[in-house]
Amino acid sequence: MQRVYLDYNASAPIHPIAQAAVVEALRTVGNASSIHTHGRAVRSLLEEARFKVAEFFTVKPAQVIFTSGATEANNLIIKGFSGQVITSAIEHDSILEADKAAFRCAVDGHGRVDLLQLEELLKQSGGSTLVSIMAANNETGVVQPLADIITLARQYGAQVHCDAVQAIGKLPLDWKELKPDFISISGHKIGALQGIGALIINEHIPLTPLIRGGGQERYFRSGTENSLGIISLGAVIENCKTQHWVAIQKLRDTLEQRLTTLCPELKIFGSPAERLPNTSCFATPGMASNTQVMHFDLMGISVSAGSACSSGKVKVSHVLKAMNVPAPSLQQSLRVSLGHSTTEREIDHFIKVWQDLYDRTHSNLKERIGA
Ligand code: PMP
Repeated sequence: MQRVYLDYNASAPIHPIAQAAVVEALRTVGNASSIHTHGRAVRSLLEEARFKVAEFFTVKPAQVIFTSGATEANNLIIKGFSGQVITSAIEHDSILEADKAAFRCAVDGHGRVDLLQLEELLKQSGGSTLVSIMAANNETGVVQPLADIITLARQYGAQVHCDAVQAIGKLPLDWKELKPDFISISGHKIGALQGIGALIINEHIPLTPLIRGGGQERYFRSGTENSLGIISLGAVIENCKTQHWVAIQKLRDTLEQRLTTLCPELKIFGSPAERLPNTSCFATPGMASNTQVMHFDLMGISVSAGSACSSGKVKVSHVLKAMNVPAPSLQQSLRVSLGHSTTEREIDHFIKVWQDLYDRTHSNLKERIGA
């Protein structure tokens, strides 16, 4: 069997539409800021991509600021906003590390933002306030009550930012209806190239740029644009409107049912809450996260212990901690994230490998305690 990839939340494969657009764009040469014919040809491709991203979010093209990814988009909004930031305890590190003085709203045991506490924090924060809460969590897949969060923030006159990285293409969110002021997205989670993302802005709210220089991206983000990345993002975004997840959700649900039948003590995180259709995060008693990730890797399956970490080390999840997951389960979590190419055969293979490890771990345990 070929290697199995079950880590789509970390990065998705390049979509054939993005690949075709990039291959075509490789023929171009020039800097989009140059006024000659070559430069203008690149500019025209960039603006076409900007138009498509704007259309997806039903905003004006001038509201789309291309960045190097969602990490930069998140830093741009959090560091560039002047005022108090209220975020949640389960945000991506690119939000949490960008402002250590931000108020952090708690989540319940299923990973949903505590709206009562959010309201308290909004009351405490006088003056200009930004509520920054993700649409769906990258580790557990838990979907946040975005419409309620936005309504609440508006009642207190706060602005809203949404890290929509994991939700784009997986949830049918109505951006025209929701209308947050700022949205972060990342290309490589939806089949575009790595190293490209965007921040959708409300041009009426002042924002200080992070990177200054030549004044590209309407002065919000200087530096020669990553034209190939932008073109790949423009090419795939339209496709995100029409993706179907029913079959994938069925595979994910089957996976969870089969695992819980084999091991009733297995703990699925966030499962009673609404979750992304492709994500399963669970802890198996007795099986350490890093042992599992290494075992699966040796058996040809790529999965993750939670969020992908730059050091390659598995660290304890701040998301599960915020959900008050007790210590043994914290060290036993595994995230399986499916994508459009995931097959039933791959899920069968995953379960077989999981069961081998489970049986081995538990017979070793029994031997050790002399049972
Ligand atoms: N936010 C979330 C929710 C994410 O899952 C990620 C990627 N793991 C990021 C932000 C950062 O995205 P990028 O890789 O484009 O910097």
